[in-house]
Amino acid sequence: MAMGNAHRHFLGNLLKNKKIEMINTLVEKIDRSNIDLDVIRAAGKVLREGGLVAFPTETVYGLGGDGLNPESSRKIYEAKGRPSDNPLIIHVADFESIKKIAASIPDTAKKLADAFWPGPMTMILPKSEIVPMETTGGLNTIAIRMPKDDIALELIRCGGGYVAAPSANASGRPSPTKASHVYEDLNERIDMILDGGEVGIGVESTIIDLSEETPVILRPGYITKEMFESVIGHVIYDPGLTSVDASVKPKAPGMKYRHYAPKADLSVVEGDKSRVMLKMKDLIADNLTKGIKTGIICNDEDKISFDNADYVIGIGAQGDEEMAARHLYDALREFDSTDVDVIYSIGFGESGLAVAIMNRLLKAAGQKVITV
Ligand code: AMP
Ligand code: MG
Repeated sequence: MAMGNAHRHFLGNLLKNKKIEMINTLVEKIDRSNIDLDVIRAAGKVLREGGLVAFPTETVYGLGGDGLNPESSRKIYEAKGRPSDNPLIIHVADFESIKKIAASIPDTAKKLADAFWPGPMTMILPKSEIVPMETTGGLNTIAIRMPKDDIALELIRCGGGYVAAPSANASGRPSPTKASHVYEDLNERIDMILDGGEVGIGVESTIIDLSEETPVILRPGYITKEMFESVIGHVIYDPGLTSVDASVKPKAPGMKYRHYAPKADLSVVEGDKSRVMLKMKDLIADNLTKGIKTGIICNDEDKISFDNADYVIGIGAQGDEEMAARHLYDALREFDSTDVDVIYSIGFGESGLAVAIMNRLLKAAGQKVITV
């Protein structure tokens, strides 16, 4: 609950203090089967002139600005309400482009790019002089990705080749998987939204740090540890991702922030499936007696078991992790339009795409887990 209120408070204060200029946000629908290049060129011009354009990628919608223009990066932080120590990912349209922004390129970078670009993988490399500190949040490394989305790639080409783009949500909110989510959070704060429909993957890119001896996964995503290891051998997870010791901080600054939280109080119920189902039913029954309204996130086929809950969202069939990833943020946002007080969600496993889903879910839950 606290996070939702904090979010509204934050935006309210920004408006009151007039820190953000209200601008007219132009929404342009793009037909993927026949991309209107005139619209993309106009959006590219907005970027080259220092403006902000939200655009679809295969992971989530991004909020783009010129990554080599410090003023654009400053505007991105301001529009999102993002802490300026949380660096931005620069999006490129081809591998050659990274030579200008990376100070050195290890063999592993080329191998991974050949295997997974364009696609949902972000590489961390030492940065070159040309990249402003505003874009990297003061770090001397740079995060780089080539998205697999024709609208995004065309926009990057028309926008100068280096588009800094964090997820296009207000800081702390679930990342946008539809243009309407971007509109909800950023209308009147950015110049343009390119509406390319619903995204395909639904969780942010996997971040892999290649700036040190052993490659380290700083954020789990669609490209899994197993997939990296099939190309470059041994890869580790950043110990800061899962450590319960608060002094072990995640290396990606963004991973330390609470994120994605719905207004209602979310907990993840973990354990053997039949026990999880029973526990959820008990919790619902208990809440009913106290007048507490309960929301549930479960598999599609189990929705029917929770007919005494106030709001139930099926996140996909059991075992269909691709579907769960695609629907998670939309589900979290959907609860904000209901009056539930608490939400219980099923948990996800420890390998493959489930790692990324569970990582985001636990962040949304502020790490609250009920183990049965
Ligand atoms: P977003 O684009 O909103 O998905 O956030 C980008 C993520 O990349 C955040 O978690 C950042 O902290 C992380 N990131 C960006 N640049 C770097 C970097 N140079 N080193 C480590 N993490 C980074
Ligand atoms: Mg984000």
